Amino acid sequence: MDNRGRDLLRKIQKIKKDLVALGDLRPGSLSQQYNVCGKPGCRCKADPPQKHGPYFQLGWTRKQKSTTRFVRRPNLLAVRKQLKNYQQLQALVDQWIDLAIQLCELTLKQTKKK
Ligand SMILES: [Zn+2]
Repeated sequence: MDNRGRDLLRKIQKIKKDLVALGDLRPGSLSQQYNVCGKPGCRCKADPPQKHGPYFQLGWTRKQKSTTRFVRRPNLLAVRKQLKNYQQLQALVDQWIDLAIQLCELTLKQTKKK
C-alpha cells in the first residue's frame, strides 16, 4: 500500500478510537417552553403576561416516531452532553465514510494496475 493508502488507514483508525471513547449519547434537540397555568389571577395571565418557565423539552425522532419529554434543570448538563455526543457520532461516521470511499477507490485502482 502506498503513502496515501497508509494515511487514509491511519485516519480511519483514529476515528474508530474516537468512536469507542464516546460516552452516553442520544439523538434530539432541546427547546424552551413557557407555560400558562390554571390558577386564577396568576402572573401568567397579567397584562403583559409573565408566563412560567422556561421549561426544557427534549424532542427526538427514532424509527419515524417522534417523542418529547421534559428535562429537569439538574439533568440539563447531562442531556446536553448526550446530545453533543450524538452529533459527534454522526460527524465521525460521516468522516469515516468519506475516507472509506477514498481508500476503496485507491484499492480498486491498484488492483487494476497489476
Ligand atoms: Zn400561572
